[in-house]
Amino acid sequence: MHTSRKSCPDCKRTLTPIQIIDKKGVGITPHGVLEYTVSEAKPSMWTGQFPVEGKVHAYMCDGCGRVLMYAQVAE
Ligand SMILES: [Zn+2]
Repeated sequence: MHTSRKSCPDCKRTLTPIQIIDKKGVGITPHGVLEYTVSEAKPSMWTGQFPVEGKVHAYMCDGCGRVLMYAQVAE
């Protein structure tokens, strides 16, 4: 579960949840939670959207600045 406490693999400090800010969304769509799909996925012919497999949560180490991303598979 993404809410469990995680620690940095390098310096073992606690990771802080962060948001990755995607500037591509500026002016068109609001920034939201990152999502992912499989590498061979193609956009839908009808909507132009990729089929979403799940969300991606990002965490940053406050010691070394390392950013880790964890996927959460959609139910
Ligand atoms: Zn660290």
